[in-house]
Amino acid sequence: MSIAENIKSLKNELESIQVKLVAVSKTKPIADILEAYDAGQRVFGENQVQELVEKYEQLPKDIEWHLVGHLQTNKVKYIAPFITLIESVDSIKLLQEINKQAVKNKRVIDCLLQVYIADEETKFGLGFDEVIELLRSAEFTELKNIRIRGLMGIATNTESEKQIKDEFYELDTFFDGIKQSYFRKEDSFDELSMGMSSDYKIAIETGATIVRLGSTVFGQRVIKHFKNN
Ligand SMILES: *Cc1c(COP(=O)(O)O)cnc(C)c1O
Repeated sequence: MSIAENIKSLKNELESIQVKLVAVSKTKPIADILEAYDAGQRVFGENQVQELVEKYEQLPKDIEWHLVGHLQTNKVKYIAPFITLIESVDSIKLLQEINKQAVKNKRVIDCLLQVYIADEETKFGLGFDEVIELLRSAEFTELKNIRIRGLMGIATNTESEKQIKDEFYELDTFFDGIKQSYFRKEDSFDELSMGMSSDYKIAIETGATIVRLGSTVFGQRVIKHFKNN
């Protein structure tokens, strides 16, 4: 199927159940993104700051950009003017820098806290206890130009559906607890970003409100070894 057809079929599948699609366009050319755009897609995700900024500059300005990859504090300034959602916040230091750059740009920047749920060494993210520690800290309460919209998690890359389901279920349960304890009065804490091409159906069953799909939209990526942000 073409990219346009993929978008249309995913819209069909996801809109009726109110799950948002982030089309993850990393490594894909401008022409591919425009094909998805012309088919009606407006939310795109990238995992590298430099690639994101280059694409932002070349593409229509009504696109909502999500950063889904690890973010270094010294790169926040490049995306702060335009980013819609930073899905990969994994420290208070990073959050403080995002807040600082948001102030400079006279805006509030929406963020998700990335929670570590996978049984793998390589995934970034906060532990459950670290999320709570962050939300309780005095430093956090001082940040007025960031808004925590919810949580993001990446499941283990495994064939075991049961393990993936357990990990997503655990994050969904944690999300509910965090909402009750820290965001009860804030309707804006409402996003749970879980699920990639291989596991998004399981993610939706276990409560995802956002799925991040790359290869399902654009086809397989040619493996390139970008240096990590
Ligand atoms: C690349 C990436 C995706 C999309 O991966 P696919 O398997 O191609 O759907 C989703 N989330 C993150 C954080 C990614 O880096």
